Amino acid sequence: MPEPAAPIALSIVVPMFNEEAVLPLLVERLRTVADGLDTAYEVVAVDDGSSDATPVLLERYRRDWPELRIVRLRANSGHQAAISAGLARARGDYVVTLDADLQDPPEVIPEMLRVAREDAVDVVYGVRHDRSTDTAFKRGTARLFYWIIRRLGAIEAPQDAGDYRLMSRATVQAVNSLPEQNRVLRLVVPALGFPSAAVGYTREVRAAGHTKYPLAKMVRLAVDSVTGFSLAPLRFATWLGLLGGLAALGVLVYAVVARLLGQALPGWTSTVVIVAAVGAVQLLALGILGEYVGRMYAAMQARPTYFIAHDSLDTGR
Ligand code: UDP
Ligand code: MG
Repeated sequence: MPEPAAPIALSIVVPMFNEEAVLPLLVERLRTVADGLDTAYEVVAVDDGSSDATPVLLERYRRDWPELRIVRLRANSGHQAAISAGLARARGDYVVTLDADLQDPPEVIPEMLRVAREDAVDVVYGVRHDRSTDTAFKRGTARLFYWIIRRLGAIEAPQDAGDYRLMSRATVQAVNSLPEQNRVLRLVVPALGFPSAAVGYTREVRAAGHTKYPLAKMVRLAVDSVTGFSLAPLRFATWLGLLGGLAALGVLVYAVVARLLGQALPGWTSTVVIVAAVGAVQLLALGILGEYVGRMYAAMQARPTYFIAHDSLDTGR
């Protein structure tokens, strides 16, 4: 007879996509930290449809690490969806989400847990003190990202807080209950407004392997962030349209006056320029509209953003 399971104090959710190179290092460091907590925990490794040896390695590690739980998604669904899957499955009173590549040092977890308990806060953000190990490109795009989010007045997202954070059960339940798709957790969580604190850490270099965030995925995250929290781009399209209209009116008046004064207009260049400019503005506005219409469409379909293929908790494997 297996013992009745002790309540789990902490779940550590780790999304991973083709992380075979970093997995041995991760397991070693994470296990040392977690075992040192002296409390019942589980590590929820969310295998985001990896096509390398990640699933094989995970099963191997699980043989002598019973706290390791493997949740495998049917297809590569993206970082945010993988975290969402982990949050939906995690059982702990507190849940930490952590990248697999050791850029977020697991050694910070005990401090996050301590702060959550002692200060009685629901969310503890890991905030990057020092990002000098990130590439200049990554830092530049990150700064632009937070600048835009702040300028749009959407929400107070803690600067330089990525997806390394600890959440209470209540917070996780709130996140899980959101019907919203393509949710950007680093914005959704602060928007929920739970009492929070921050713990600083130094961002490390990726321990092994290479980034799973190509530019296309970064752009996707940025577009999801903006459209998920702000209607400003739609208003921007309106203003652009108004401005274009005014400019067109000016040209019209000029053309009529010139005609009345009997000055033949050469005309061709200006016509072509205006047609092109108006066309561009229209396409831009359409594209912006499309982003929102697309999100509405996806929300209506309410198709899950991930499917769980396997959870070692259910199957015992
Ligand atoms: N990741 C994932 N699915 C994806 C892309 C990334 O689960 O489609 C995971 C990845 O394995 C890592 C985390 O998300 O644990 C962050 O990715 P990465 O470190 O490659 O991003 P970067 O730090 O370069 O922005
Ligand atoms: Mg990384």
